[in-house]
Amino acid sequence: MSTLYRVHVGSDHLVFCAAHFITWREGECEPLHGHNWRVRAIVEGPLDQHYYVVDFIGLRDTLRCLLAELDHRVLLPTQHAEIRVTGDEKEITATFRDRRWVFPRAECALLPVPNTTAEMISHYLAHRLREALARLAPQVLRLEIQVDECDGQTGICVLECGQ
Ligand SMILES: [Zn+2]
Repeated sequence: MSTLYRVHVGSDHLVFCAAHFITWREGECEPLHGHNWRVRAIVEGPLDQHYYVVDFIGLRDTLRCLLAELDHRVLLPTQHAEIRVTGDEKEITATFRDRRWVFPRAECALLPVPNTTAEMISHYLAHRLREALARLAPQVLRLEIQVDECDGQTGICVLECGQ
């Protein structure tokens, strides 16, 4: 059986500041609020010919680019059963029952998830990172993204790679 290795990246630079609101229980919807979300990635696999699982700098920079797309944005779910997100190139309108929010398009990040929980943000980032690692480090077997809302509450998504 081959030996597997694991690398972690997480630092004060792997943070994004964003607003969101989630639904919970039946019909409950949070008010709009923000977090400084801290992100950590764990990547596992055999070593490549340079004795890396993945180049730390490449992994860190890839994550930074993904986080920059979310930084200083309102995170909106496009697959929510009741939060409707519509708009054009200038404005985005989100509605939930009798509530309505309108934001400048450039200040929104529309995420293909059913709710912008820490778990679903980790799911989104894990899938984006898996796409990037297919090019950067194709030997990677598994990755994990941890998304912490900065108060010790962390959502985690683990994905198998290379399939
Ligand atoms: Zn929150």
